[in-house]
Amino acid sequence: MSTTSQGNQYINGAYRVGSGPTAERINPATGVVDSVIDYAGTGDVEDAVAAAAAAFTTWSRLTPGARSDFLLAFATELASRAGQLAALETAQTGKSTRMSTEFDVPGTIDNINFFAGAARNLQGQASGDYAGNSTSMIRREAIGVIGSIAPWNYPLQMAAWKILPAIAAGNTIVLKPSELTPATSLIFAEAATAAGIPDGVINIVTGSGREVGETLVRHPQVAMSSFTGSTAVGRRIMEMAAETGKRVHLELGGKAPLVVFADADVEAAAHGAVAGSTINAGQDCTAATRAYVHSSLFGKFTARVAELMDAMVVGDPTDPDTDMGSLISLAHRDKVASMVERARQSGANVLAGGLAPQLPGAFYRPTLITGAAQDSEIVQDEIFGPVLVALPFETDEQGIDLANDTPYGLAASAWTGNVNLAMRAAAQIQAGCVWINEHIPIVSEMPHGGYKASGFGKDMSSYSFEEYTNVKHVLISHDTDVHKAWQDTVFK
Ligand code: NAD
Repeated sequence: MSTTSQGNQYINGAYRVGSGPTAERINPATGVVDSVIDYAGTGDVEDAVAAAAAAFTTWSRLTPGARSDFLLAFATELASRAGQLAALETAQTGKSTRMSTEFDVPGTIDNINFFAGAARNLQGQASGDYAGNSTSMIRREAIGVIGSIAPWNYPLQMAAWKILPAIAAGNTIVLKPSELTPATSLIFAEAATAAGIPDGVINIVTGSGREVGETLVRHPQVAMSSFTGSTAVGRRIMEMAAETGKRVHLELGGKAPLVVFADADVEAAAHGAVAGSTINAGQDCTAATRAYVHSSLFGKFTARVAELMDAMVVGDPTDPDTDMGSLISLAHRDKVASMVERARQSGANVLAGGLAPQLPGAFYRPTLITGAAQDSEIVQDEIFGPVLVALPFETDEQGIDLANDTPYGLAASAWTGNVNLAMRAAAQIQAGCVWINEHIPIVSEMPHGGYKASGFGKDMSSYSFEEYTNVKHVLISHDTDVHKAWQDTVFK
């Protein structure tokens, strides 16, 4: 999967070899080193920011229609690379080819098409005559150079979520993908150039968070830091951004609950729980991690979830029969395994999974845990693996309270046929998204973002423009004589 001959930086419309150190990339499903990648040096980050700053004036002054046309051409260009992108996404993450092909690549193309349309609908509020003899209007204006930092779980989609609203609104961008998964972000930028998007509008610098990431966040010419990743790093980004007083947008960790009320369709909830907890091998910030189930359904629900999990095919991600590929690395697999082991040692029961298949890659079976305490690590902390903890509750209020009882608030689901209860759960669960009788679907048209320790600001949808634009009030006088008279009264 190497792009090493041309380099792993994409700056001002061209590949370049970074001046930083090199690192081996291991395919997590095979355990084999399949590329050596170069990292950006400080000079590369400087050049990328300078290229983005130089492109800003022209790009931000294009009409929305012109930017939209570029994005439509970009979607077509990216679609022509669909096979290459899906293969690279699987090679660098270990996720199943089925997932890369049917979810990651089409989701990204849909996102480009959405923002091609949304670019033309970016507008300030209607005007009004508030001050008398004058009209006030609102302009929404691009901010400048955006510095974005992305995680490894959905490398292509995360690049899209960061880049598209920023450039559709007229900003230019420097993105640092995760050092574990830079390959598809580079192809993304290359396709943008091939579609005619001007040089410097999209730049990619790759490398570690400590070096390349921090240089980007601290850079005085970067007007805003947009970050998706862990809560701990997000807080560090906020601290660093304060040094130059720049705007931040943080999409952070999650610990999504699934609340199964007494009247729920247990079969549907069990399927939703398994799909929601094993999507992307559980390495999804909205993955179902805590199932709170009414005590009358608890035995039936956990038995069915265990059965469905046991039936899942875990293994070679390129095999079309595989339901779940590997985790991102052996180190991460071991972290997941040790959290499950600590839960077991504290008295929890492992009803399904809990073991890694004996393969060279970073595999871990879908796992169901019961009998854990609400305040235990496995219930409170993000695992980012295919592990679901189920706990019983008695009253509806208790189910909702338990769902809210972690520091996170990214997403949740509630399962019930009672519309009153569904609406109450939707209102009272503290999360940026509440699904009813579903867990996981996301669409380009709707916002994604957290409450509480899951961050703030929105990705996707027209709401994301609120992150990537400044709001300007323009007041136009209708009658200079009246205003002159007013000025004379007030200021003399
Ligand atoms: P991470 O926080 O370790 O790294 C994310 C990115 O930040 C990487 O590119 C990394 O190189 C960079 N980074 C690390 N330290 C940095 C620093 N000091 N300064 C600047 N950049 C730095 O997260 P990860 O392990 O890549 O991804 C998993 C995490 O991402 C999970 O917590 C998950 O919940 C979260 N996530 C959230 C969302 C969301 O939309 N809320 C989506 C996907 C993933």
